[in-house]
Amino acid sequence: MYAPKDVEKPIVPVRLDLDSTICFTCDKELACFTKCCHNNSTFLTPYDIIRLKQRLDMPSDEFLLTFTTPGKVEASDLPVPMIKLVEDRNNACPFLGEEGCNVYEDRPVACRYYPVAAGLFHNFDLSDNENFFALIKEAHCLGHDLGQEMTIAKWRKQQGIPPYDENNRGWVEIILRRKSLGPFVEIPEKTLQMFFMACYNLDAFRRFVFKSNFLKIYRVSSERLEEVENDDVALLHLGYDWLMTTLFGAGRLELIEQVVEADEVEVD
Ligand code: SF4
Ligand code: SF4
Repeated sequence: MYAPKDVEKPIVPVRLDLDSTICFTCDKELACFTKCCHNNSTFLTPYDIIRLKQRLDMPSDEFLLTFTTPGKVEASDLPVPMIKLVEDRNNACPFLGEEGCNVYEDRPVACRYYPVAAGLFHNFDLSDNENFFALIKEAHCLGHDLGQEMTIAKWRKQQGIPPYDENNRGWVEIILRRKSLGPFVEIPEKTLQMFFMACYNLDAFRRFVFKSNFLKIYRVSSERLEEVENDDVALLHLGYDWLMTTLFGAGRLELIEQVVEADEVEVD
């Protein structure tokens, strides 16, 4: 689920789909304004990190060290960065300012979906594109049953969610593949490091692509390399292809045959 906020509070156990309707308004005038930005557990997707690090003009490793704490994808051993709350500000999100969210235009997808939770990792059948959502009703949130009714599809659009889903799809696919192996298959530490670097620490992954044996092992076109050098989103998609190829043999990247046996890629 996206936004597993405040697990003590009830999540209405109603399964919704894109055509289901919700009635919700969030407004600065409501007495609950910014209450949802305290004491929450918000995980960050790869595209969330790109948007936030670019907005804050920070390298990905500095961003991760400053603003995140380690978490795990639900029912999995795969790492996921969680937003690190500020204890001496009543466990507020570090991006919360006097007037509300300081990174509003680049806020994480979990914050965009709220009060909807999107079930991304429940679907073990990769060919099944069925969508799964639920409505979160927390006692402190006064926005329910206010404003106009709208479908989840419209809510997603209004909240700017489609580019997030588009650029996180490869990440979801890798997580689902890993889950399909079952809990008894142990993932080596090096594999977890590769996953973390390619999905979240993109500046380290860029150094890895250009400064390790990577380009002696995988054939990447000069056009793609040029894009990857300057564009974090293009780099992220190269990372998905690399992980799918090395972890699951999906053949998304072409191997340069003559060095296959000679060289091995080293992860920092
Ligand atoms: S209405 Fe809900 S989402 Fe909006 S500020 Fe209040 S608690 Fe947060
Ligand atoms: S990123 Fe913004 S909207 Fe999301 S919890 Fe932090 S302050 Fe609130």
